[in-house]
Amino acid sequence: MAWKDTMLYSIFAEKCPKCHEGDLFEVRNAYKLKSLTKMNKRCPHCGENFQPEPGFYFGAAYVSYALTVALWVAVIVALITFDALGWIEYGFLTHPATSLITGVVMLLLLLPVLYRQSRAIWINLFVKFDPEKHKKV
Ligand SMILES: [Zn+2]
Repeated sequence: MAWKDTMLYSIFAEKCPKCHEGDLFEVRNAYKLKSLTKMNKRCPHCGENFQPEPGFYFGAAYVSYALTVALWVAVIVALITFDALGWIEYGFLTHPATSLITGVVMLLLLLPVLYRQSRAIWINLFVKFDPEKHKKV
């Protein structure tokens, strides 16, 4: 199975879950904040509807929550690991204030990515890849 045929590709590349060709979002760069939330209404490649019903992406909030928890766990694990390396004074990186500030900063920096990734994951839960649509030009 080619990487482009996997659900993970569709999610990471923010591609249409049906054909893995068309972009989910109008502008690929999530950090162009003006267009952060602007999704294509339909897939530019296969015409798949990206807005199946009003409020479809409400459920993406649960995905977003899960990603946020995962991010916090990753931050804490990274801080504990770096602290154990002892490059700076022991205990500084694992101090609750350091963890909190690092976590909040990471969250703010990654917010646009988390927003888009949670939507990409959400639509991938409902729309399955169709290799035939992929080939269609
Ligand atoms: Zn498509």
